[in-house]
Amino acid sequence: MSESVAQAGTAPEDRTVIGITFGNSNSSIAFTVDDKAEVIANEDGDRQIPTILSYVDGDEYYGQQAKAFLVRNPKNTVAYFRDFLGKDFKSIDPTHNHASAHPQDVDGVVSFTVKDKDDKKDEEGEVIEEVAASTLSVHEVATRYLRRLVGSASDYLGKKVTSAVITVPTNFNDKQKEALIAAANAAGIEVLQLISEPVAAVLAYDARPEAEVEDKIVVVAELGGTRSDVAVVASRGGMYTILATAHDYEFAGVALDKVLMDHFAKEFLKRNSSAADPRENAKSLAKLRLEAEATKKALSIGANASFSVESLSDGIDFASTINRLRYETIARSVLEGFNRLVESVVKKAGLDVLDVDEVILSGGTSHTPRIAQNLSNIFPSSTRLLAPSTNPSAINPSELQARGAALQASLIQEYDAADIDQSTHAAVTTVSHIANAIGVVSVNEAGEETFIPIVYPETAVPARRTVHIAAPKAGGDVLVKVVEGNTHIKVTKPEPKVKEEVSKSATVEDADDENEDDSDFSDDEEEEEEKREKVWKIGSTLAEAAIRGVKKGGKVEVTVNVHADLSVIVTTREVGAKGGVRGQL
Ligand code: ATP
Repeated sequence: MSESVAQAGTAPEDRTVIGITFGNSNSSIAFTVDDKAEVIANEDGDRQIPTILSYVDGDEYYGQQAKAFLVRNPKNTVAYFRDFLGKDFKSIDPTHNHASAHPQDVDGVVSFTVKDKDDKKDEEGEVIEEVAASTLSVHEVATRYLRRLVGSASDYLGKKVTSAVITVPTNFNDKQKEALIAAANAAGIEVLQLISEPVAAVLAYDARPEAEVEDKIVVVAELGGTRSDVAVVASRGGMYTILATAHDYEFAGVALDKVLMDHFAKEFLKRNSSAADPRENAKSLAKLRLEAEATKKALSIGANASFSVESLSDGIDFASTINRLRYETIARSVLEGFNRLVESVVKKAGLDVLDVDEVILSGGTSHTPRIAQNLSNIFPSSTRLLAPSTNPSAINPSELQARGAALQASLIQEYDAADIDQSTHAAVTTVSHIANAIGVVSVNEAGEETFIPIVYPETAVPARRTVHIAAPKAGGDVLVKVVEGNTHIKVTKPEPKVKEEVSKSATVEDADDENEDDSDFSDDEEEEEEKREKVWKIGSTLAEAAIRGVKKGGKVEVTVNVHADLSVIVTTREVGAKGGVRGQL
């Protein structure tokens, strides 16, 4: 879950801490007040602050103001650089940088050349000496950006921010983490901890006063501008373990922008057959892109949105509208990609969608209603889907990570750097967890043996859980059988109809794969569905204990204690009685 990165820095009592999300597209800053996290708006009133720097006449602009300069001043505007931190030039993908300052190879170091200083001018403003452009390493760019970001937080809070918890994608390697910490340190920020993005999102939800700490499997879909990162997280006794992750650089926000850009460019050309294609001119393309993104965001709220650009191409103004249904149709293949990504990561974790208790949609693209609707089609109704369009109590997905980071920052701010190092040891991510459940066998009314789970699979160890189980009504001697358990998916086929019996060998997965093309948009084909449910299977017996003379209507308490070395101690006793049986496995 975390990386131990604190370094000798500010004394705990002198710290002012915030949470930072530093994305390729946008960044956010948050702080806590009375244990509640709040996202800070910068001087422009933005809570999602574009991760962009731009230089005009020697002045540095950041955020939304810098983004606007992508149209008029792209060469001196640096965007989409976060993922280059800690990487050699050879290993970066510069796809997203073609419309802004291009990354360059300076002895393997990713760098950008921008004119960040003004020319020397006389009193009339005439240039008397041109000042050369500067070549800035990605470290320098990130440092300058983080300095501005934290500067906004300091202005807002009225005191200098000293320290932060920063979120990182789950696939950031040590070099990338080190590079991020170095940039933050150079910007004057002590990094208390780096926490992974999905854990930050889960924390933001779990910290709500109404949240109950429960054992659960959570899928966090972090859908951003240039990348989508999905993780399966097991939350057991308040401890988070990442079970599987998937990363995709195709299905993300810019792919949706591209769909709208193409759509409106074609419409423009249809209306103005002799005009130049706006996609072939850098300035027109930049205008098209900015407006397409705005239209896309408007379509997340309303059923219709307008698109309007002055002088789009050849000096011709263009205005149009689009409704959500049309957008969802033209963007269908991108929108469906998110489902496949989420399904793949659940599978990678060795789980079934029925195992998933909660799906958290995080990141800007998660505002898209169709993505949430499509996901709701693959999960059972028992899975909580936390997205603004499907759940009114969902937290703004653009704010989740910064909030989680701020909450974590406020939790650990009182510790010395060395203690943070210890208590947030990197081992947390790779903590051992039990593969099978541990529980007891009970006999139901039909006389069948059933499994009652006590410790769930994927629980991080050490772990201790207790259950109370009703003894047979008559009381007497009770035999407690402690066993391993695992789940499997029971598929009940519908009663065969006269026609078209489903082939016995066709599994549900096969059926899903074949139906890729018709799944999400045609709700009308109401076919009888197979019923799928998760059932427990009793595995090997771990221990048996006899409890003598249980009272009529009495209960038996079973405690399972799994140690860090995976050894297990089981204690059983009658509730309310003294003594008990204890055994080590
Ligand atoms: P990445 O690192 O993947 O580039 P990020 O984490 O920096 O992304 P986010 O702010 O999470 O950035 O996501 C940005 C994306 O979310 C952009 O493509 C943006 O257009 C999109 N987005 C923001 N708000 C909305 C909205 N209301 N509806 C649809 N898309 C949105």
